[in-house]
Amino acid sequence: MKVTPRFAEMRTVLAERNRFYAGRLQQQHFEDIPFTTKQELVDDQAKNPPFGTNLTFPIENYTRIHQTSGTAGKPILWLDTPDSWDWWLRCWAEVFKGAGVRHGDRVYVAFSFGPFIGFWAAFEAAQRMGLMTISGGGQSTEQRLQSILQREATVLVCTPTYALRLADAARELGLDMTGGSIRLTVHAGEPGASIPETRNRIQQSFGAKTFDHVGMTEMGAYGFECERQCGLHINEDEFIAEMIDPAAGVGVEDGQKGELVLTNLGRIGMPLIRYRTGDLCVISREPCRCGRRSARLIGGVLGRADDMITIRGINVFPSAVESIVRRYPEIVEFAIEVHRHREMHELRLIVEIVGVANGVLERLAQEFSNDLRIRANIEQVAEGTLPRFELKSRRLRFVE
Ligand SMILES: [Zn+2]
Repeated sequence: MKVTPRFAEMRTVLAERNRFYAGRLQQQHFEDIPFTTKQELVDDQAKNPPFGTNLTFPIENYTRIHQTSGTAGKPILWLDTPDSWDWWLRCWAEVFKGAGVRHGDRVYVAFSFGPFIGFWAAFEAAQRMGLMTISGGGQSTEQRLQSILQREATVLVCTPTYALRLADAARELGLDMTGGSIRLTVHAGEPGASIPETRNRIQQSFGAKTFDHVGMTEMGAYGFECERQCGLHINEDEFIAEMIDPAAGVGVEDGQKGELVLTNLGRIGMPLIRYRTGDLCVISREPCRCGRRSARLIGGVLGRADDMITIRGINVFPSAVESIVRRYPEIVEFAIEVHRHREMHELRLIVEIVGVANGVLERLAQEFSNDLRIRANIEQVAEGTLPRFELKSRRLRFVE
């Protein structure tokens, strides 16, 4: 394990001042420091409200507060000092640079500017890079489309789900986005942009090149795509990456699927050391054709440890379902329901189709059985029935 002088420096400060980490950092060797889990962070904030004990400095030193999406429970609050916020912006600048964003680009951020961190950081990082940055806050989807066209934005930042929502709305309104000024789309919040079928749909809808990025509110923007698009580069100048077997908690070899464990090196005010991200990935340390030598996540984040579905003994990630559904341009939205039926789980896929379905349901069922080896009950609903999402989509539902 390559532990940098920056970690040693951070460790000294935390051992003295951070109640959450002081005890854990008694361990001499990096490999012996216990993992940090999301549940521990939730429990710590519940026991020590409102901000918990993972604070290195007096509370008046913190200038920003954000929160996790709380998809799997109560949101965790996360605080930044001016220094740690600067660090966030530097990490996001790497995301833009990797995608080929350059001087003169106009960045449109299609986001409501609520407590979720990612787009605030993207917005300010773009400004810091000297780019015209346009907020999509407080606007309807139609107003956003008009704003993109009228201000001649060249870079669109949003979730992959919302990019498809924008494309769908443009179709309904008769607006041609493919002939517009957008040349790059950069995505956050969900792993969809690394799913080839989803990526293709977005690229075709905007006549643009689509880039994924990966980050977490509590961790930082840790991964980005380069112009070669050979997986997600981990920003190893700012993060220490390890891969473990999620069940055994021990390291796995490069090239094998495991859970990504990260340590951030520039967020001293509220850091994370050996944090179990829950992201299942395959890492490669082969140098990339772009010239960068940092580790890459091949195929992006493959799934979350906590959203794997088991259907009659076969493990399926929602991303695998999405990769099939996105092959059909007729399907504008979908939802996955997992039903417990006589102690067995069954998968129900609900799809919203524009125009005539024309054998789509039958072909979908065939692809589920060929590609995933599961049988899915597929149901079509009327256009406009399913919820639309701006931020993280919630397409997976368990029904008892
Ligand atoms: Zn590369």
